[in-house]
Amino acid sequence: MAEASPGHAVFCPRCRGLMQRRIVRGKPVAYCATCDGKGSDSQPLAWFTKKGGGPDRSAEAARVAAQARPQVHASAKPRVAADEPRRARDVPPPAKLEVAPGTDLFPFGEVREGQRQFLADVATAVKEGRHLLAHAPTGLGKTVSTLAPMVKLALESQKRVFFLTSKQSQHKIAVDTLKAIRQKAGVPFVVADVIGKQDMCPRPEARDMFPKRFAEFCRREQVTKSCQYWETANTGALRLLKQRPHHVEELTIVCTEETTCPHQAALDLAAQAHVVVCDYNYFFSDLRAQMQERLKVDLADVLLVVDEAHNLPDRIRDHLTLELNDYVLDDALDECNDLDDVALGKHVEILRLVLASLADVEPPSDPEERIQRSERYVPREEFADAVNEAFGKKRSTLTVKDYDGLVDDLAEAIGAYEQRFKDDSRGLAALHEFLANWRNERRGLARILQKEPTPSLAYKILDPAVLAKPVFDAVHASVVMSGTLHPMEMTRDVLGLAPERSTCREYASPFPRENRLVLVDSSVTTGYKDRSPQMWRDVGARLAEIAEATPGNVAAFFPSYSILEQVRPHVEAALDTGKEVVAEERGADKAEKEALVNRLRRGVTNALLLGVQGGSLSEGYDYEDNLLKGVVIVGLPFAQPSLEVEALIAYYEKKFGPGLGRPYAYVHPTFHRVLQAAGRCIRGPTDRGVIVLMDKRFGWGSYRSSYPADFNPRPTDDPVGEVRRFWRSR
Ligand code: SF4
Repeated sequence: MAEASPGHAVFCPRCRGLMQRRIVRGKPVAYCATCDGKGSDSQPLAWFTKKGGGPDRSAEAARVAAQARPQVHASAKPRVAADEPRRARDVPPPAKLEVAPGTDLFPFGEVREGQRQFLADVATAVKEGRHLLAHAPTGLGKTVSTLAPMVKLALESQKRVFFLTSKQSQHKIAVDTLKAIRQKAGVPFVVADVIGKQDMCPRPEARDMFPKRFAEFCRREQVTKSCQYWETANTGALRLLKQRPHHVEELTIVCTEETTCPHQAALDLAAQAHVVVCDYNYFFSDLRAQMQERLKVDLADVLLVVDEAHNLPDRIRDHLTLELNDYVLDDALDECNDLDDVALGKHVEILRLVLASLADVEPPSDPEERIQRSERYVPREEFADAVNEAFGKKRSTLTVKDYDGLVDDLAEAIGAYEQRFKDDSRGLAALHEFLANWRNERRGLARILQKEPTPSLAYKILDPAVLAKPVFDAVHASVVMSGTLHPMEMTRDVLGLAPERSTCREYASPFPRENRLVLVDSSVTTGYKDRSPQMWRDVGARLAEIAEATPGNVAAFFPSYSILEQVRPHVEAALDTGKEVVAEERGADKAEKEALVNRLRRGVTNALLLGVQGGSLSEGYDYEDNLLKGVVIVGLPFAQPSLEVEALIAYYEKKFGPGLGRPYAYVHPTFHRVLQAAGRCIRGPTDRGVIVLMDKRFGWGSYRSSYPADFNPRPTDDPVGEVRRFWRSR
């Protein structure tokens, strides 16, 4: 029995589940994670593994696999007839619907203080075709205040609303709000909620795969016609889904019962939908052209909502980064093997040597210097010349003579791969994209070599406006909002929104001011120069005192896991009233973090939760019902000094003017993380809580402009006494 190749997904011939490796009596054997089938002599498990390790994509292998296609389960619908469309490709556009004149779609009783202005601002932005940038704190009801006027105006003017969010919890809030608006409107507008394909896939194998493996698995299932969900028409599911809004979990259940692919159904529904809830990447990545075609979207008819918009610049910048590293080279090499193209494989291996030679500098022993020297800028010509030189040395054994020749050969190989396997190339395509782009001359680029853990060369486009500006210029109107968007002018400038079409508004928190105490404790700092074992002892002791002065759960959010781990023993030693320490571990997965929060939800009332700023515990959970009585922000989570940060500061300084580079690239984004974490404390109108910013730098005048007007932290020499007095004053 052959083993499952570590580099490729290998599938069970019985149930099409993912094959995994297991060592039995010292030997690797393949077994199916789904049916645990061991194969048989007549049906060897290695059908998809050819000699040499790569997957066998031959027509014969596909034919054999198709014959082995499973019957999914007893209740599965019969497969579609050959002449029936597999899915509703030719879907009609969203139906024209009328809302009775004067109907107000705000569905939740009375409009709250502060909401009225927000509702009016959204309506004005839509009517006048403008962008509203809104700093809208928790409690303002920003989702309903945006969607209610927008849906009404969209239906009246036959526009479509796209609500973009990066958080799955926000999908549910948006769809629940749309359910209420639809009921109030009495008009059957269609809502589609879409998340990533893997998260919607009902196949049990999908759950534990790495995303890249899943993409390969899903494509293979489609090409070999092996996924019954893919093969079954979704017309029945769409009929059900149009009857009322479904959030994505409900949609997935409907589609699974109809044995049709939920992701495909969601996209087909989105093509007919008046409102679509989806991720940023539908508009701000190279998916956009495909999305526009698939969903028949004309940007001029789009009313765009970007939720949690403080995350958008970084998301776009990450998307605009191309890398050359071991993973890219391995994937390219796998596809060379699939093509039996030994010559091209040799060239790919030479690139690995070139990368190593560019990184071949002894790391210095001093840790601070090490940070500086673990990376370096690589000029455009240096890498291309190194490739040419390496090819020149092995000229007699190579088919390609230089860098440009390799780019041409890769393009040809991608064509050959796609023609032969009727499938997109990933590895060769990624390598080609990197090499072709590396030679580009453009402004706002950083070309950086990271030496550790393995050499990696990055081509970074620093300016998110490259992707964002064309979208914002083209849509009819937008609302760009977050609880931490201050200062909005920065987001406007960084994303490239036209100032003359933009309105910036900062709304005050609707919760009573007296319910919240915000203090600055200047007795400690996590600043790099002041770090020492004594400082961690002082931070731990002060944190324990504040936690004990607070009657209930307290969360402390640190700038990094490293500082959390150094302070934790001192906090535990200093606590003496039985407060239980619950800490987020480095590398904890989503389920483990959820379990921590659920402990608080299930009745733990005297815990000290330790987490990091910028992480999901400090940004992704709501801590409803006053679950946290206190939040302590330990230190400022400035980005590690790096060449990328340095390049971004320099770029913004040049683009936006003297004095703006550092605030835009470094300071304000750091304070967004601080304010997100601080915002975990008060989530409702009757919640009370204390927020302690524990670092002397929080009181510095130079950071004053990073706080929104109504945050206003107060420096004190006696934070523990103030916290006690606040709780006694109840
Ligand atoms: S086609 Fe749909 S159901 Fe089938 S594997 Fe892909 S995502 Fe899953």
